[in-house]
Amino acid sequence: MSKDFIREIVDRDLAAKLHEGRVRTRFPPEPNGYLHIGHAKSICLNYGIAVERQGECNLRFDDTNPIREDEEYVQAIQADVRWLFAEGVKEQAFYASDYFERFYEFAVEMINRRLAFVCDQTAQEFADGRGTPTSPGTESPWRERPPDENLALFARMRAGEFPEGAKTLRARIDMASPNIHLRDPALYRIRQAVHHRTGDAWKIYPTYDFAHCLSDALEGITHSLCTLEFAVHRPLYDWILEHLPLPRPLPRQYEFARLNLSYTVLSKRKLNRLVAEKKVAGWDDPRMPTISGLRRRGVTPEAIRDFCVEIGVTRYDGLTDVALLEHCIRRDLNLRALRAMAVLRPLRVVIENWDEAETGELEAINNPEDDSAGVRTVPFSRELYLEQTDFMEDPPRKFFRLRPGGEVRLRYAFIMKCQEVEKDEAGQIRLLRCTIDPESRRGGATAGRRVKGTIHWVSAEHAIKAEIRLWDRLFSVPEPEKAGEGRDFLDCLNPESREVLHDSRLEPSLAEAVPGTAYQFERVGYFCRDERDSRPGAPVFNRTVSLRAPFDPRKSKK
Ligand code: ATP
Ligand code: MG
Repeated sequence: MSKDFIREIVDRDLAAKLHEGRVRTRFPPEPNGYLHIGHAKSICLNYGIAVERQGECNLRFDDTNPIREDEEYVQAIQADVRWLFAEGVKEQAFYASDYFERFYEFAVEMINRRLAFVCDQTAQEFADGRGTPTSPGTESPWRERPPDENLALFARMRAGEFPEGAKTLRARIDMASPNIHLRDPALYRIRQAVHHRTGDAWKIYPTYDFAHCLSDALEGITHSLCTLEFAVHRPLYDWILEHLPLPRPLPRQYEFARLNLSYTVLSKRKLNRLVAEKKVAGWDDPRMPTISGLRRRGVTPEAIRDFCVEIGVTRYDGLTDVALLEHCIRRDLNLRALRAMAVLRPLRVVIENWDEAETGELEAINNPEDDSAGVRTVPFSRELYLEQTDFMEDPPRKFFRLRPGGEVRLRYAFIMKCQEVEKDEAGQIRLLRCTIDPESRRGGATAGRRVKGTIHWVSAEHAIKAEIRLWDRLFSVPEPEKAGEGRDFLDCLNPESREVLHDSRLEPSLAEAVPGTAYQFERVGYFCRDERDSRPGAPVFNRTVSLRAPFDPRKSKK
């Protein structure tokens, strides 16, 4: 597979021994929400490069905005990163808030070099003075404040002597720059808030632009990889670092296209709204595109990493089809999932020629893709459950499952014939009376006899009752963020994204199912046990993904 442009750059720099021939990247989440599949792209890129090129990657919390951030997110993010990329993740995380004192010293240095000043403009005056992309801004009346005065005011800002919004520290660059980000941008703002790590020690907080480049420099980051919207910030990133006494060579920023996924929203602000407005059951709701939601649904780290390889890294914004993610999940689960039989919507069957007292033991293969997974036994008895959709009283021609008078093979077991359909007063099917060909199982005289359909089943007496949650896409339109005139992305929710079945029956081996282990319910889809909501004797299973869209005879002509 060809190298992406970022790996090309890293290898070029390694070959030129630019940073003494080493690479150090970082993944810098803001702890204001849970990580999503877009973050996974960034994690795979940053950790991937570090692991492949014997470098390092720092997990750094960009915790410079106390208002939206929380310790809960710090914990969740660490767990998600470790789960996704175990081998490259260092024990210790880094925090921008650990550098607050250093940032302050750098700001003082900038004031001394007449590269920063304390500005008394209100937020509105600041915005008005910035100008537009085509017209220059106007200089702040406070721009020529002498360094001594700036130093004194900045110290008083830190001491909490001024209310929020009263003053800012601004870089002194160029109000006529064609790049708006260079028009004397803010470096510090006053915030009377409690920070989740530094408490009330600070009354001023650095902006993203000031904190990010300095954190990179302090940690010896060589390649600072971020998404395309930060390309316009790069001149400011470079300007700040070049004007401070920092070891050279300086870190360099490179941008790549963010992941956009169809039928999905990938912005923490929007995901936060889904949680806050209770459209989903939390950040780890299996419909969420969060790492924790995907994990709870039964997706493996390998599948997510495969997906990140598939999408690649480019400089072009695009929309990735969520079907590609589903494809990667299926491809991965097909290889690792243990097979089992489960009947989602049960239909009772009585085998008339099977002795009431007898339990048969049939051998079933755990994973045809992996011989080491071995075999198990599945009990067979006089009463079974079949899938309701595997029987039709009056089926179309190409229906190869069970019909009155017809035959099917029961998976791993016998050929069975439907003799009689029993209904209740309302005309609903109550049960099927069937017979089996006792010689048709493996090793029997008629084992080789062919019938067109094979269906799954469970023994009624031995089956476990379970709740099954069938998850579907959360949104019903490909681009919910472009909902259209006057519509919010929340207006595009798929009303059928959650279907719960309360009376499903599982083969007994699934009593031992471990959360996080994938199962293929044969002919149905991939499932895993829900850790949060399962109770002893009352398991809950999530559908990870279906086994691709099945042929539905009800939709075809007879
Ligand atoms: P969001 O827009 O979802 O709130 P963010 O960029 O504000 O995301 P951060 O916590 O700042 O969230 O992101 C941490 C890192 O993850 C950044 O380097 C950012 O560029 C990257 N990242 C965020 N979203 C995506 C995405 N959709 N695709 C690729 N990388 C992303
Ligand atoms: Mg952000």
